[in-house]
Amino acid sequence: MWTYQAPVADMLHLLTRVLHAPASWAAQPAFADLDTDTAGEVLAQASRFATEVLAPTNAVGDQQGCTWAPEGVTTPPGFRAAYQAFVDGGWPALACSPDAGGQGLPQVLNMALFEMLAAANHGWTMYPGLTHGAYASLHTHGTDEQKQTYLTKMVSGEWTGTMCLTEPHCGTDLGLMRTKAEPQADGTYRITGEKIFISAGEHDMADNIIHLVLARLPDAPPGIKGVSLFIVPKFLVNKDGSLGARNTVYCGGLEHKMGIKASATAQIVLDGAIGTMVGQPNKGMQGMFVMMNAARLGVGNQSLGLTEVAYQNALAYAKDRIQMRSLSGPKAKDKPADPIIVHPDVRKMLLTAKAYAEGGRALAIFCSVLLEKSHYHPDEKVRKDSDEMLSLLTPIVKAFLTDNGWQATTMCQQVFGGHGYIKEWGMEQFVRDARINMIYEGTNTIQSLDLLGRKVLGNNGATLKKFGKLVGALVAEEGVNEKMAEFITPIAVLGEQITKFTTEIGFKGFQNADEVGAAAVDYLRVAGHLVFGYFFARMAQVALREIAAGNTDPFYPAKLQTARFYFAKLFPETATLMRTARAGSKVLMDTDLALA
Ligand SMILES: Cc1cc2nc3c(=O)[nH]c(=O)nc-3n(C[C@H](O)[C@H](O)[C@H](O)COP(=O)(O)OP(=O)(O)OC[C@H]3O[C@@H](n4cnc5c(N)ncnc54)[C@H](O)[C@@H]3O)c2cc1C
Repeated sequence: MWTYQAPVADMLHLLTRVLHAPASWAAQPAFADLDTDTAGEVLAQASRFATEVLAPTNAVGDQQGCTWAPEGVTTPPGFRAAYQAFVDGGWPALACSPDAGGQGLPQVLNMALFEMLAAANHGWTMYPGLTHGAYASLHTHGTDEQKQTYLTKMVSGEWTGTMCLTEPHCGTDLGLMRTKAEPQADGTYRITGEKIFISAGEHDMADNIIHLVLARLPDAPPGIKGVSLFIVPKFLVNKDGSLGARNTVYCGGLEHKMGIKASATAQIVLDGAIGTMVGQPNKGMQGMFVMMNAARLGVGNQSLGLTEVAYQNALAYAKDRIQMRSLSGPKAKDKPADPIIVHPDVRKMLLTAKAYAEGGRALAIFCSVLLEKSHYHPDEKVRKDSDEMLSLLTPIVKAFLTDNGWQATTMCQQVFGGHGYIKEWGMEQFVRDARINMIYEGTNTIQSLDLLGRKVLGNNGATLKKFGKLVGALVAEEGVNEKMAEFITPIAVLGEQITKFTTEIGFKGFQNADEVGAAAVDYLRVAGHLVFGYFFARMAQVALREIAAGNTDPFYPAKLQTARFYFAKLFPETATLMRTARAGSKVLMDTDLALA
């Protein structure tokens, strides 16, 4: 059986010492009263919920999954109680706006909470995760009446939310969507169609489910420019806020899947269901993008949680399991063999997971701070710059953290040898659960096209250059510090290489767009390493300063060791990635005979 300790110390360290979130809060009236102690207490309470209440429901959720019946879906044993405890604890409201009944705490605390939840039970976390995304979309784009009707109950957790985009014939290409919305004389719409793969689409944990549905108006232009967004509640809501008639939106069945078995992945049938429009006709993607962007950060965060929990358990196992002797001579002479942690490759697998967790956490927290600033900072320029940087980094959070999470959970499973393949240890569940994160919310290929095509080449690399300026400032600050050279030189070199690399792909892409498609996935990993390298250098900077100041906490030398491992063993894959990206599209596209 696996265990989990929430990494609260690392979270607080990143928040306070590396990314200076309290200074950012002080500059924003919405959070000016928040101090580090309060933030620490929130994280400690979140950790208790995740480890004591939620983690015990994970294995049973995986074994039993959800059960479909015509009357509804039953979640696994313990799920309803855990959800009620979550609601009673006020957790759904944590980072929601006070005008909707939320606690108005910074998004970064919510991000940390959701890392813990995903580590404890990824499947369960889908239900509140989707609700928070739906909240964000309605809070930004809903009318006052829609907010009044739905938001308070979603913020309290009494009702949950979904996002309904995918249809049997359209996933990535939402322009192919067929679900129809017929305007009614009373200003509502009758929505008819079939959605598939809808997470948290039906369940027994809340009184109402608020579906955010994309559909087409009768006169809509073809393609993505003809898609509108609608609220379709499971139960209609009376004027006084009480639940009314059952709406004609049904769950036709659940998918049987590889992982996150406790998350109800529902086929949703809309049979003239009553809905109201969110935002403007044919501009549905604007509202949905708020939810999708929140969800993309959330999905990266899910893999971060799984990386952390898999690492913790693999580490404990590697210290305990004895097999063979160390190549350099026995280490545990009192035992018949050494613990497997003495073997270099076992250490490499452990350190890979640890580095991906710590780098990923730094990036996730950095992005949450940007998200806060983009909404609440009093200076409009700061809001705009933060939004722009967040937009650049979002596909990296989604794809880099989830690709890394897949590698990390697989490596941690490998540390267990054959026992990693056996259910009772829990490691194979982490691997199965992690796999979906590379697929939903836009596959990782689509994220890489978004990064390279839209966010980098689409604005001539302007935002990437702004990130380059952050790297440049750190290089200028620490360039003469010999102790920092091993952390600074690699990012300085990659920073220069990536500028040339981007120009080169842009030029080739101008002549043949397939060149962009052929390079994009490799490109995203290179950009991911530039970002991770920057954060590892900053973490190393803090560690070196603490050690120089006489701090003897082993946390700091441990950070340096992890950073050294990262730069020596993981970061150098950028050279191979740039080389394979440069190999271009011809070897992919001139292969009709090979793929005949
Ligand atoms: C467990 C689970 C939960 C989900 N939850 C939700 C949910 O809550 N709401 C919702 O609406 N949807 C949900 N989805 C759907 C999910 O977002 C889609 O499956 C995903 O976006 C991919 O769409 P698709 O499956 O139709 O694949 P396709 O779009 O058919 O893609 C197939 C392959 O082609 C590639 N491809 C497609 N277009 C391009 C291109 N232009 N360039 C390069 N490669 C391309 C893709 O990357 C992929 O590898 C969920 C799916 C699953 C499995």
